Amino acid sequence: MPELPEVETTRRGIEPLVLGKVVERVLVHNASLRWPIPPDLGPILSSQQVCSVERRSKYLLMNFERGTLIIHLGMTGHLRVCRSGEERRKHDHFEILFSDSLVLRFNDSRRFGAIFWTESDPLLHERLVTLGPEPFSDLFSANYLFRTSRGRKIAVKPFVMDARVVVGVGNIYASEALFRARISPARQAGRVSRKAFALLVQSVQDVLSEAIAAGGTTIRDFMDNEGRPGYFKQELKVYGRAGEPCTACGHAVSQTRLGQRSTYYCRKCQK
Ligand SMILES: [Zn+2]
Repeated sequence: MPELPEVETTRRGIEPLVLGKVVERVLVHNASLRWPIPPDLGPILSSQQVCSVERRSKYLLMNFERGTLIIHLGMTGHLRVCRSGEERRKHDHFEILFSDSLVLRFNDSRRFGAIFWTESDPLLHERLVTLGPEPFSDLFSANYLFRTSRGRKIAVKPFVMDARVVVGVGNIYASEALFRARISPARQAGRVSRKAFALLVQSVQDVLSEAIAAGGTTIRDFMDNEGRPGYFKQELKVYGRAGEPCTACGHAVSQTRLGQRSTYYCRKCQK
C-alpha cells in the first residue's frame, strides 16, 4: 500500500512531466474506483493547464487553473506518464491526454483509489479537512503532541498512527520512529514527556525523509515505466525483525500486537 514516502516520490516524479501541460481530453475506462470518478471530468479539464502538483497526506493535489484534481492511490494505485500511442495496460482506468501527446495514466488493480474534482480549497475537501498536520510542518512539534495527548490512555503507537493527530505515520514508520526515540510503543500517550515527544518528532521526520530518499525519485521511474519508484529499501531496525538481536543492545527484538497492528520493539531500549 503506498505510504506517504511513495506518494511524495510519485509527486516528485510526476510534477516535472506534467507541469504547464494543457489537457486535450480525458478518458475514463472504468469509473468505479472506491468513489466513482466524476463523469464530467472531460469537459471540466479540457484546455486547462497544470499549475502544480502538491501532496497532502497521501492525496496528490493536481492544481489546474480552475480547480484541483485530488488523487488517492488507494492500495494498489500508481501513476505513470507515457506517449499517447502506447498500448493501454490492464487496470489503466483513467487517463489525461495532454496537447503534446503525453498521457498521464492511473492504474489500479484493486480499485481502492479515488479521484475527486474540487473548485474550492482542496484542503477543505471532506476527505482532507479532518486530517492532522503534516509530519514535516512546524505544526507537528513536541508541544503539539504533548498538548494533544494529555489525559489520553491510548498507547503512543496507535496515537501517532492516528491521521487526526499527524498524517503519514504508517505501521512500519511508527515502529521504527519509536525505536529511535527509545519510547515503548505500549506506553500511554498521556504519559509521554515533552522531551520524549521531541525525540519522537525528530525520529518520525528522519524515518520518513530517509524513506523518501531511498525512493530515489528519477523521472525515468514515471516516464515510459512502471510508475513505481525503485522501491523503498530502507534499513529497518526493528520492524519485521522479531527474535533478531537489537542493533543497539543485542537483546532479541520483541513482537506484539497493538491496535490490531504488528508491533516490533526492544524491551531493553524502549521504555
Ligand atoms: Zn535494544
